[in-house]
Formats: sequence, structure tokens, C-alpha cells
Amino acid sequence: MGRVRELIDRLGENKHLDKAEWVEVLSGFTDEDREYAASLAREISLAHYGNKIFIRGIVEFSNICKNDCLYCGIRRSNQNAQRYRLTAEEICECCDEGYELGFRTFVLQSGEDKSYSTEMLCGIVSKLKEKHPDCAVTLSLGELEYEDYKALREAGADRYLLRHETANKAHYEKLHPAEMSWEHRMKCLEQLKELGYQTGAGIMVGSPYQTVECIAEDMLFFEKFKPEMIGIGPFLPHKDTPFKDESKGSYELTLFLLSLCRILLPRVLLPATTALGTIHPLGREEGVKAGANVIMPNLSPTAVRKKYMLYDNKICTGDESAQCRGCLEQRMKSIGYEVAVTRGDFK
Ligand code: SAM
Repeated sequence: MGRVRELIDRLGENKHLDKAEWVEVLSGFTDEDREYAASLAREISLAHYGNKIFIRGIVEFSNICKNDCLYCGIRRSNQNAQRYRLTAEEICECCDEGYELGFRTFVLQSGEDKSYSTEMLCGIVSKLKEKHPDCAVTLSLGELEYEDYKALREAGADRYLLRHETANKAHYEKLHPAEMSWEHRMKCLEQLKELGYQTGAGIMVGSPYQTVECIAEDMLFFEKFKPEMIGIGPFLPHKDTPFKDESKGSYELTLFLLSLCRILLPRVLLPATTALGTIHPLGREEGVKAGANVIMPNLSPTAVRKKYMLYDNKICTGDESAQCRGCLEQRMKSIGYEVAVTRGDFK
């Protein structure tokens, strides 16, 4: 047996590799190792969640952002972005439509747009929970203060997605302007956990300046932090950002990392991301076959979808919500999986 395969087996048994071992795995894997990890991951996912795929309807309600992350298409200094904001009413309407389509989790995501007060956001969360008590509400609003996270949790929010982006501080500083801090992002994640949110961390695979050592540190961070959700997708350049000429992340490495996350944290909620579907036409199917168990189709109104362009060529920006739902059902069926009409909580 090859060394990488031996380490994958060890990861399955001990749920731990040290940094040097992670570097070995990540720098020396072959297609066969990747397929081996995928088959193990798939088995684990089937054992915990069966052939059911959880769907989350995502409403990207504002692309206005005070931050200037160097990789992101909706960064503050992108003058070419056409900015928009949905009203509380519009957000709720998207979720109502999603409910009819069988969604039982709504993900509200936006840039860091301070025109939505905590009070207003709490109002939206509580209204959704009141109207659809059988649904989970996930927030992805970036870095807030503890008191805001607390109020939103008390208003009924169940989950929060905040990718840490990288566990390596020096790497973080190459991806973000000086006014943003790695320590603060990490502190937010701790606070979210403490408040009882099912918490999601995650990274972009192949972001500029990322090394295998950085990814090894991300895996050690996942082991320690134990997020209930992990968002992993390839970095994809956006034409109006400082990283426009950088290479996109590796599709194969993204799939491999999905499998390794499933092996490390067997019950983690693991989406096959839109970025994975963008880098390869069958990316989401292959993601599921590599151990992912969540898909997050878009519920935003078609009029604004193209404006939430984090990276070039993002898929599904021209479709109606119902079309996306039908398309995914078919895609999952084609690989022997079923879309589940349920909240799909962390077990
Ligand atoms: N503002 C919130 C936040 O900071 O978490 C949520 C929105 S933010 C745009 C969501 C995620 O998009 C980020 O965490 C980042 O990993 C991802 N993202 C941004 N630009 C990307 C790019 N060029 N390629 C791939 N993913 C990207």
C-alpha cells in the first residue's frame, strides 16, 4: 500500500494527522488515492445520512459590502458591480417561494451591508421562523459583534456560515486589506459556536499564496474547531479584482479535500458548492460522490442574480428558482441520490 493511502486509513481510524503528514498527503496524492478517499468518504456519508442530499435555498439579499477582500467580485472598490439590496419583504417572498419548492432551510447571505440593522435582521429571522416553524434559518452576513450574533440567535437563527478563509494569519493578510483581521474572524467563529449556532467554517482551494502547509493548517483547524458545516470550493478569479490574473484553484484537489473532510469529521454537513459546479459542469455530482451531502441552490430573484458575482462565470444566474430545484433533483437522481425535504440538521 502506498504512503498516502496508509495515511488516509490512519485518518479514518484516529481522526488525526500531524501537519507533516497532512503535507505529505496533500502534495503526494495520485488519482487512485483520490478515488480511494472518495469511496471511503462516500461510505461514511451513506452510513450517516443515507442517499439523501440536503438542499438549502440561498437568498443573496445584498451585494453591498464595506469590505475589500482582494479575491471577491463584490468588494467595496469594484466600481463595475451593480449594487442592489432586497427589502425585508422581498427576502421573505423568496423564502415563501422556496418553501413551496420543498426547501426547509433558508440561507440569508450578503456582503457586509450596514444598512440592515440588527433589529431589522432579527425581524426577518423571527418572521421566517413564525411563518415556517419547520424550517431552519442560516445566516451568512460576515463579521458582526457578539451582541448582534446573540440577538440573531435569540430571534431564532439556527446556523451561521463564516468561512475562516485560511488558518494561516500571514496568508490571511495577503488576501485581505490591512483593516481586516484574522484574529477577529477567528474570534467570531468562537462566539458563534459559544452561542449555540451550528457553525460553518471553510476555505477557497487554490486562493493566491495558498501553500500545502496552509491547507494542512486548515485541516488541523477543522479537527480542533469541529465545525458542523464546512464550505470548500475552488478559488475562481473575478475580472474586476486585484486577483483577476491569478490561476483558478484545482478541481481535483477540491474534491480530494471534500473527501478528507468527510473522513475527518464523519457527520459534518458538507456542500458541493456553486464554485465547484462552476469550475466543472459535473462538479456538484462529483462533489457528492466525493462525500458531500448538501447543495445550496439559489432562491434570489432572477433580476439580481447576475449582480451577486463573486467570481467570473458563476452558474445558475439565469434560472428561476423552480428550474434550479428541478435541475438538481435530476442531477442527484442521475447518480443515485435523492433530494430530501427536511431541515437537514447536523446529527
Ligand atoms: N460577507 C459574508 C462573509 O464574508 O462571510 C458572506 C458573503 S462572502 C462573498 C461568501 C464567500 O464567498 C466567502 O467566504 C469566500 O470564501 C467566497 N468567495 C468570495 N470570492 C470568491 C472567489 N473569487 N472564488 C471563490 N469563492 C469566493
